[in-house]
Amino acid sequence: MATDRSELTSYGWRQLRARTLAASDICIVCGHGGSDTVDHIHPVSKGGARLDPDNVAPIHGVAGCPTCLRKCNSEKGDKPLADVVQLATSVDWFAGP
Ligand SMILES: [Zn+2]
Ligand SMILES: [Zn+2]
Repeated sequence: MATDRSELTSYGWRQLRARTLAASDICIVCGHGGSDTVDHIHPVSKGGARLDPDNVAPIHGVAGCPTCLRKCNSEKGDKPLADVVQLATSVDWFAGP
């Protein structure tokens, strides 16, 4: 079980990332386009499948979102997607128009 880091840069992972971004660049956290990386919907550290296309989705990386300027990937961090999106939704909801 010492493969944790090296698998993140493995051929399979890079392939999956490229394929995911080719299919869509809509960020799973903020919903805007222009994602430049991908992330696991269910974190691998929490038992998510590392190389399952259904568990990988586009997200804004270190550069952040060009539309809303959120740092989606660092916001998400190691949390399950549902936590982050619920959080963002409730903030928007209470902030109002
Ligand atoms: Zn985003
Ligand atoms: Zn955005």
